[in-house]
Amino acid sequence: WREKLAIDAQARALWQSLEDELLRLVNEVSSRELQRSLEEAESLSEATDYIVWSIFLFTLGLLAFLLVLLLLLRRDLLRPLVRIAGNLSRLRDGMQPEPIPAVRITELQEVVDIVPDIGGYLGSLRERSCRLEEEKDAYSRMSLMDSLTGIPNRRALDMRLADLAELRQAASLIMLDVDLFKIYNDTLGHQEGDVCLHRVAQAMRDGLRGGDREIFRYGGEEFAVVLDGVSPEHALHVAERLRQTVEQLGIPHPGNPAGHVTISLGVAAVEVLTPETLPRLLETADSALYSAKEHGRNRVHLAGELVKKSACLAAGDRL
Ligand code: GH3
Ligand code: MG
Ligand code: MG
Repeated sequence: WREKLAIDAQARALWQSLEDELLRLVNEVSSRELQRSLEEAESLSEATDYIVWSIFLFTLGLLAFLLVLLLLLRRDLLRPLVRIAGNLSRLRDGMQPEPIPAVRITELQEVVDIVPDIGGYLGSLRERSCRLEEEKDAYSRMSLMDSLTGIPNRRALDMRLADLAELRQAASLIMLDVDLFKIYNDTLGHQEGDVCLHRVAQAMRDGLRGGDREIFRYGGEEFAVVLDGVSPEHALHVAERLRQTVEQLGIPHPGNPAGHVTISLGVAAVEVLTPETLPRLLETADSALYSAKEHGRNRVHLAGELVKKSACLAAGDRL
């Protein structure tokens, strides 16, 4: 029994030492593992730091590069472009371009060099266009003027009447014709006839006051006066004054019973002049004129058809 106890104690001691040894081994293994894990974690963290710093430095470098690029672009491209644009605007407004400092980009420098030439070219173009505009105005005025009498011609009359018709308001028309002018021409010559027409036209034009009474050469020895927005009675007054104006010129006329140049006049009026009523107004004024001729010349006839009231004025009748 004692022996058994001794063996038992021995076995327990052995077991204990084994257990201690095993524990030591376990501790040793786990601490080495821990150490390795720690080392790995450390190297991982170092690598991460390295990557973060690399990215940071790369971004910083990129930003610096972009900044420098931007500054260079601004200095060598944008600023010259803005100056060129400014100079082009100045040229457009007719001002002199401002001097631009030398530019590094060759192609851009070529554009800078061309700008003053464009200015010169634009200047000459502007001058030419001004001259052309003046010439156009002069031709346009000439195309509406009668060269013999110096008053607006038939074309100008047509335009004036068309404009008036668009306004759709009251208008009157006086058609007038130099009496027995063929005889005047035949006896005194065509040249003298021209002079007479010029004098008559100028006197009538001077006698008409105000912008709403314009006289036109209708053709040959016929003239027309347009009056907008006036009553037929008022138009009749104007016509009679014209008749007197010509009579008072006292131009000798061998074939005229009056002994001097006279005119006959026909007056027509319409309450609303429209493109549709315009031909009728011309026709009516013309027939009133021929009515004045038929009734002995040197007189004014007012067409009754359109104004519901007719009036005839012989030379010397009081108005
Ligand atoms: P009436 O009183 O009926 O109008 O008779 P008139 O002789 O005036 O009319 P007629 O139509 O027979 O003759 C018009 C003349 O006007 C004929 C033409 O030689 C002349 N005439 C037309 N235009 C001009 C012109 O520009 N210059 C000159 N000198 N004569 C012109
Ligand atoms: Mg005549
Ligand atoms: Mg005639």
